[in-house]
Amino acid sequence: MGARAGIVVTGTEVLTGRVVDRNGPWLSDRLRELGVDLETIIIVGDRAQDMEHALSFLAGEGCDLIVTSGGLGPTADDLTAEVVGRFQGREMTMDDALRGRIAKILEGIARRWPHIDLEALEEGNRKQATIPAGATILEPVGTAPGLVVTPSGGSTTPAVVVLPGPPRELQGMWPAALITDAFRLAIKDHTEYRQAMLRMFGIPESEIAETLRRAHDAGIAIDELEITTCLRRGEVEVVTRYEPPAQATYERFATFVRERHAATLFSDDGTSIDDQVAALLRRAPARTVALAESCTGGLLSARLTDLPGSSAYVRGGAVVYSNEAKSDLVSVDPALIGEFGAVSVEVARALADGAIERFGADVGVGITGIAGPDGGTEDKPVGTVCFSVAERDGPRIDRRAHLPGSRGDVRDRSTTVAMHLLRRLLLGLGDLPTM
Ligand code: ATP
Ligand code: MG
Repeated sequence: MGARAGIVVTGTEVLTGRVVDRNGPWLSDRLRELGVDLETIIIVGDRAQDMEHALSFLAGEGCDLIVTSGGLGPTADDLTAEVVGRFQGREMTMDDALRGRIAKILEGIARRWPHIDLEALEEGNRKQATIPAGATILEPVGTAPGLVVTPSGGSTTPAVVVLPGPPRELQGMWPAALITDAFRLAIKDHTEYRQAMLRMFGIPESEIAETLRRAHDAGIAIDELEITTCLRRGEVEVVTRYEPPAQATYERFATFVRERHAATLFSDDGTSIDDQVAALLRRAPARTVALAESCTGGLLSARLTDLPGSSAYVRGGAVVYSNEAKSDLVSVDPALIGEFGAVSVEVARALADGAIERFGADVGVGITGIAGPDGGTEDKPVGTVCFSVAERDGPRIDRRAHLPGSRGDVRDRSTTVAMHLLRRLLLGLGDLPTM
């Protein structure tokens, strides 16, 4: 049986793609953690009728719970509370105590914006404090209260959790939604799931399909497991969800994958390549890293410094886009560029060495390539990227890769390749298996 949910993301800005939906995926993760099956995410514009259709559709599909995002603000296009109230057969009423609490929040805003139209603010307050009668209020994180609205009378429509659109507000309000009686009742049939992830790099997704077939042939009851594979930033992720009794089956499956993909499996505990590189740089003997990037324009530096605490091991990076910058900033010999071209393993090596010297680091990374769409040649087509990762007076891995996709894909994929080369260097492994 299990508990099933649907999500309705509202907002014309999200529907048109001007704002990328961050609430649907975030809520999806949370529901998954709770063992609630997510049926679908529907995105609708700020139109009452479209919202109503979405709610009716999800009710018709047998959802126990609907979560909405957006449309709780003070403006006329914010319709969600009213639409949900009608859907659940509840009158809209002004909650005076709530109105008072919102007024307190608005006082702070009015102080920060001295020229604000106080009348409009008051009008907005009245609107936000007008809620479906009997709804459970989730206290505002911004100015808008969230709501949990159950059907009135004998109706059997699903409970609706109404959350604001700004992701910070929605996420801040979620814990309060979880502990309401209506929420707990709606998900009472939830299932306990476990989830595990295996990550591989340097193998096509089709290989995993073959692995699943072979695991099945080897007598592993993979139908007890919900296995999904996806390709993300050049890595293959195998995510498996299962109920606790299938633990032994999962372990057999994971062992099978580990054996068959020993060369490309780099994570079986959920850690990302970024986590692993950070841990390896910190681990004794702790090492520092410096970068000289051409085609990635600093993306690898950004990726390495994305993790908190990275100042412990990132020395710095140089964006050396022009030949002159390569020579001036990290001492690449112009003759080397003349002889082999700026995109060459030789220049990548010189970039890595130059970064080590320039920044006084233990480990250097050099990246130079042709991200496109122009600039490719027969010998060096678009997507050709040369890498070198090296330890001062120590081991080195060089690689010339041909990466698929658009300019953005090539640049992003280059950072992933570099991270994997770094990991392998730090672990004392050689180059990646051929891709
Ligand atoms: P407000 O009081 O800010 O109007 P609201 O609950 O009415 O809150 P919306 O009007 O739907 O929310 O959205 C306000 C802003 O929040 C949007 O312009 C957008 O920047 C952001 N936002 C809304 N929904 C999403 C979403 N699904 N993903 C990412 N950002 C979103
Ligand atoms: Mg709004």
